[in-house]
Amino acid sequence: MTSKIIDGNLLSKQIRTEVAKRAAALTAQGRQPGLAVILVGDSQASQVYVRNKIKSCEENGIHSVFEKYDASMTEAELLSRVHALNHDPKIHGILVQLPLPAHIDSHKVIEAIAAEKDVDGFHVSNAGLLMTGQPLFRPCTPYGVMKMLESIDYPVRGAHAVVVGASNIVGKPQAMLLLQAGATVTICNSKTRDLGHHTRDADILVVATGKRNIVTGDMIKPGAVVIDVGMNRDDAGKLCGDVDYAGACEVAGWVTPVPGGVGPMTITMLLVNTLEAAERS
Ligand code: NAP
Repeated sequence: MTSKIIDGNLLSKQIRTEVAKRAAALTAQGRQPGLAVILVGDSQASQVYVRNKIKSCEENGIHSVFEKYDASMTEAELLSRVHALNHDPKIHGILVQLPLPAHIDSHKVIEAIAAEKDVDGFHVSNAGLLMTGQPLFRPCTPYGVMKMLESIDYPVRGAHAVVVGASNIVGKPQAMLLLQAGATVTICNSKTRDLGHHTRDADILVVATGKRNIVTGDMIKPGAVVIDVGMNRDDAGKLCGDVDYAGACEVAGWVTPVPGGVGPMTITMLLVNTLEAAERS
């Protein structure tokens, strides 16, 4: 079997066109959507992510504010910036880029963000709303994955979805969104015995572990949809996912590439969440 590719760049472009239109309509009413991004420290990877987020805002009519601080910033200083942004009427979304330096309690910082501006969807009240089926913000990466499934008209209802990875930012909210869409969901973590036993039974397989090649072709059910969230570097330093892409392409019905799959969708859904926060405000 030769898999079909779910092109995250193409789908992102379509969604961003719609975002830009709705952002322009709000701007015309004097309510331009605004996103504030805070980066603490010098992580190269975080700087790239943040730059992409800011650039995407600019390209789609969303006002953005980028605040970059030295790694020595104290927790109290960061909390004070978050509080100020909570009260800034031009800002509808606040994103604190993770990870934060070790001396700052990231839970405390996320909880300090006003829930109605928590465009990452990481605040406990947003996690609770998602869990109880009344989401205000869906975390961007799992939300993007759901849009990818929608784009191929995949019948999620009744399908067996296996999510490999159980983090608060990807695996758990992903499982919740799939469950709410009617899938029967299995969540795997690092303690799972015989991972392949579970993955081979998946109609929808979402892999988010940060472990290169954790899923190989022989672990995939023929015809399955394989969504690779992972972002790793191969031996040549090239970006790659968690799934053996060539192996997956021989078995799966659909696969997402890395790069060009889930990555652009994550940023796109951040724009959507910011826009919707502004529309609600
Ligand atoms: P994380 O917080 O490190 O969580 C990794 C999860 O994978 C944990 O639940 C862990 O299990 C599980 N895991 C590790 N080894 C495993 C194994 N051998 N079998 C099964 N499960 C295993 O990572 P994350 O933040 O969720 O991110 C995961 C990956 O997605 C990373 O590569 C990250 O860079 C990428 N990512 C990409 C995007 C994007 O936009 N494309 C966005 C976010 C993240 P335990 O719970 O037992 O430790």
